Formats: sequence, structure tokens, C-alpha cells
Amino acid sequence: MRILVTGGAGFLGSHLIDRLMEAGHEVICLDNFYTGRKQNVLKWMRNPYFELVRHDITEPIRLEVDQIYHLACPASPVHYQYNAIKTVKTNVIGTLNMLGLAKRVKARFFLASTSEVYGDPEVHPQPETYWGNVNSIGIRSCYDEGKRMAETLTFDYHRSNDVDIRVVRIFNTYGPRMLPNDGRVVSNFIVQALQGKPLTVYGDGSQTRSFCYVSDLVEGFIRLMEGDYIGPVNLGNPGEYTILQLAETIQKMINPDAELIFEPLPQDDPKKRQPDITRARKYLNNWQPIIPLQEGLEKTIAYFRDQLKE
Ligand code: NAD
Ligand code: UDP
Ligand code: UDP
Repeated sequence: MRILVTGGAGFLGSHLIDRLMEAGHEVICLDNFYTGRKQNVLKWMRNPYFELVRHDITEPIRLEVDQIYHLACPASPVHYQYNAIKTVKTNVIGTLNMLGLAKRVKARFFLASTSEVYGDPEVHPQPETYWGNVNSIGIRSCYDEGKRMAETLTFDYHRSNDVDIRVVRIFNTYGPRMLPNDGRVVSNFIVQALQGKPLTVYGDGSQTRSFCYVSDLVEGFIRLMEGDYIGPVNLGNPGEYTILQLAETIQKMINPDAELIFEPLPQDDPKKRQPDITRARKYLNNWQPIIPLQEGLEKTIAYFRDQLKE
């Protein structure tokens, strides 16, 4: 098949491309390199079945493909808040363009949505049936509401135009190829500890997240795309930790003498988050994460050690 991956030079997109190329598909990677980099897909650059296109999805584009994995959108609060209006455009106009493309060429369309559609959740853990608790005017809204609109558009193209869709809600995922300046918590703590800087815990660190290793997530992507269930379906690791626990774990693994410092909690920071993965288990052939946090962190630490040497 010929498969388009938007945001393919980013963290998740580049791991997905590895799987698709290894399976013998032809891949077109579309990226504007806002938070992605060529280095992430460097190993495929000379492969005739791989194409890298520098393109911003807020502009229309015509291509002929069988499937679209639509991942383009900055995912770290630091980067999606840097130009909030651009984030809205990417989620709304960009997703509209990719759905228009899917409609024209009758491609199956996969939307990378997010656990952020649940906002600061009042239901715990979060099942897909929960409608969420999202602030429409806060600093996270460009991303949360942007993704909610992207889901709406996707389901409306399905209902009105028969576009074949798959929707995944991704919970916090980490691993190699996150940028050292990504700004999300796992890469921040690892890079800080490796550089001998204090680990910056926001708030008192009692807020929780559930961390999924990237290979587990990509396996779920492919099962969803290849199956019949349209979603939305949560993908994430149900293992839930406080941010303080995460800081202490990484501190122990890299440098037990590293200092922890406490900084103000950003506005609207969700207090807790854990995926209910009953649906994924049921519809994705018993999918569940298999890499424990400790093992995933070891691989990620090894990656950043190398990166920082370069
Ligand atoms: P990332 O920032 O590494 O990758 C995003 C990619 O999209 C980058 O390569 C970036 O350059 C590209 N991009 C951004 N705006 C674009 C535009 N207008 N046109 C073309 N390309 C554009 O982030 P990631 O962690 O790989 O996230 C990928 C997708 O998964 C995003 O849609 C994100 O919202 C979603 N997601 C990720 C997580 C996670 O924990 N990693 C959680 C929930 C949802
Ligand atoms: N679009 C695109 N590539 C295509 C087909 C459509 O970028 O191959 C864009 C198109 O420019 C439009 C959007 O997708 O802005 C939605 O397309 P659709 O055909 O659904 O709507 P319309 O063009 O009728 O507004
Ligand atoms: N966080 C932190 N220190 C950091 C970066 C993030 O304590 O250096 C906290 C952040 O406030 C949030 C959690 O870690 O409570 C996860 O943040 P991240 O940006 O990784 O993801 P999201 O908030 O989007 O889930």
C-alpha cells in the first residue's frame, strides 16, 4: 500500500514509519519540521519506497494514497502554546485538508487524537464514553479543543461523506526521538538529570500521569488501522504514577544526588490521568502495553545519553 504519514518526522510518526517501511509499504512522510526533524527518518532517505515532503498541512495538497495516518500537530504544551493560533489551524484546517484528501482518493483515515479531550477529568480512569471536562478559553484549549474539533470533523466526514475512519486517543507516551527540548515531563527529567541540573517538578508533584512506551503504542496504531473498529479507542499504559514518583525514579536511575526543585503548576494542568483500555483489549485483539516503565526509561535514557554526546 501507499501510506501517507502526516507529522512523520516527529517522535511518534517516525517510529510508525519504521514499522510501515519494515512491513514493505510505500510511505510518504509529510512534515513542516516544526517539532520534527529529518534525522528521525534519515535511515529511509535513500530507499526508493520512501518520500519526504516538506509541507504544512494547513495548505491543501493533492496526493494519491491508500491510507492516511494523520499525526501532524505539536504535542508538547511548550510547543503547542508557543503559537496557539497556529495549533488551532493545524488541528482544524489541517485536519480538514487531510479529510478532504481522504475523501477524494477514498483512503482510510486515522486520526491521532489525545487523552486531552477528557480535560481535567472528573471520571477516573477515563473510558471513551466520558465526554470530558475541558476549559474552552484556557492556555491548553488550542490543543484540547483543537483535537476535539478534529474528532468532530473526522466523524462528520464519516457520516456525511462515507470516509473510512479510525480514531485513537493517545495517553502520555515517551521514548527515543523525543527532542531534548521537547518540554514534556519524561524527556525533561531525563535530560536534566543527565546534564546535572535539578529536576523541575511542577506543583507539589502529586498530579498523576500514566506513561506508555512508544513501541506499545505503535503496535496499537497498526492494529486499529488494520481492523474494523472505527473508535474512538484509548491507547496508553494504565500504570499510573505521581509526577514526584516519576522524578524520584529517574533520579535513582541516573543520579541519586540530582536535586529536585518545585516550580509553579501551569494553568489547567490535569490532576490525574489514566486510560481505561477495556475497549482496546476488546477490539484490538487483546492489545495491551508490554514494556514496563523501568525498561522503557532505560531505553530512553540510553538514547538521550547518545544524543547529548553528539
Ligand atoms: P511531535 O511534536 O514529535 O510530532 C509532531 C509532528 O508534526 C512534528 O514532526 C511536527 O513538525 C509536525 N507538524 C506540526 N504541525 C504541522 C503542520 N502544520 N504541518 C505539517 N507538519 C506539522 O509529537 P508526537 O509526540 O510525535 O505526537 C504526534 C501526534 O500524536 C500529535 O498529533 C499529538 O497530538 C498526538 N499525541 C501524542 C501524545 C504523546 O504522548 N506523544 C499524546 C497524545 C496525542
Ligand atoms: N483538499 C486537499 N487535497 C485534496 C482534496 C481536498 O488538500 O486532495 C482540501 C481542500 O482544499 C479543502 C479541504 O481539503 O480545503 C476539504 O475538502 P472537501 O472536498 O471536503 O471540501 P470542499 O473543497 O468542497 O470545501
Ligand atoms: N511536568 C513537570 N515538570 C516538567 C514538565 C512537566 O512536573 O519539567 C508535569 C506537568 O505539569 C504535568 C505532567 O508533568 O503535570 C505531564 O506533563 P507533560 O507536559 O509531559 O504532559 P501533559 O501535561 O500534556 O500530560
